[in-house]
Amino acid sequence: MTFEIDLRSDTVTKPSPEMRQAIASAEVGDDVIGSDPTVEALQEYVADLLGKEAALYMPSGSMTNQIAIRLHCGRGEEFLCEADCHVYNYEQAAFAQLSGIVPRTIQGKHGVLEPHHLHGMIRPGGDHMVSTSLVSLENTHNRGGGTIQPLEYVDAICSWAQENNLSRHLDGARLFNAVSATGIEAKRWSTGFDSVSICFSKGLGAPAGSALAGSKEFIQQARRARKLFGGGMRQVGIIAAGALYAVQNNRERLAEDHENAKLLADAVRNAPGLKLAPEPETNIVVVEIDPALGTSAEFIQQLAAYHIGALPFGPQHLRFVTHMDVQRDQIERACAAIEQVASKMTSGKSAAAV
Ligand SMILES: *Cc1c(COP(=O)(O)O)cnc(C)c1O
Repeated sequence: MTFEIDLRSDTVTKPSPEMRQAIASAEVGDDVIGSDPTVEALQEYVADLLGKEAALYMPSGSMTNQIAIRLHCGRGEEFLCEADCHVYNYEQAAFAQLSGIVPRTIQGKHGVLEPHHLHGMIRPGGDHMVSTSLVSLENTHNRGGGTIQPLEYVDAICSWAQENNLSRHLDGARLFNAVSATGIEAKRWSTGFDSVSICFSKGLGAPAGSALAGSKEFIQQARRARKLFGGGMRQVGIIAAGALYAVQNNRERLAEDHENAKLLADAVRNAPGLKLAPEPETNIVVVEIDPALGTSAEFIQQLAAYHIGALPFGPQHLRFVTHMDVQRDQIERACAAIEQVASKMTSGKSAAAV
């Protein structure tokens, strides 16, 4: 399905003419038997941006996350993560299917974990229990509504994990949204983590790919695991050029997406029967619909008549995500449509009740 104003996800963006130019003129090599110069350039750029020794380009964020978990935990070991995180909910439990690893989930608040939530969660050892090896955090938190893990919590959780010999992984699919919203550099957000995953195909607007960053030795192991997972790609500089263009040129403009999310939030606040769940901090707006109006599926169907796309997030919740292919005037049209649909559904229901 295509929408004129597609707010389903920030993954729907199409490469701009400038990005296509970078893709068309990319130098390439064989990144499996040797290396590809564009991929090398991307990996060096990302490692430097995240303050890590090395980085590795992969086809998806699921692969970067799952390889990180595999390398940090042995078979039959456990990692701690937030209950609504992507790694646990949206990656088919690949840690279990492919690596024999179990999760222990902890409920945060809109995806945000506080240090005290984790205290006492490390298994004591002995012959009966699995052993705890890793903490995985997500920043910004997708399902939580694009929420930012506050830096002081991240620091405290990472120090606590380090003191207890746990590895630390960051799913930073939208780390640059956190950077844009806080002014805190990506390097600083990454300090306490052994490995960091970022996505090029979310707000940055590249066609495909993610990177995993960490120590040289860790990335060497990750390269081997990437081949095992079927993620070795040959003249992959063709798509890496889009990722490099994205990460070099599209970080600053994420602030516009956050402004647009605030406009959508204002419309939601003005609309009868709609509630923000929670207040948006970055580019994701999660909306709760009063059952008196109907379901999220019904609301989304009504919006589709205005050529606006949104995703259901449960029976009474839906998600809007702002991104570079939706401009401010389109957001203003979406705001008007949201208010109209909510009013229409409200009056429809009260008419039915009379
Ligand atoms: C999109 C996303 C990923 C990676 O998803 P892929 O579709 O596998 O690239 C990982 N974590 C979060 C939080 C995401 O939003």
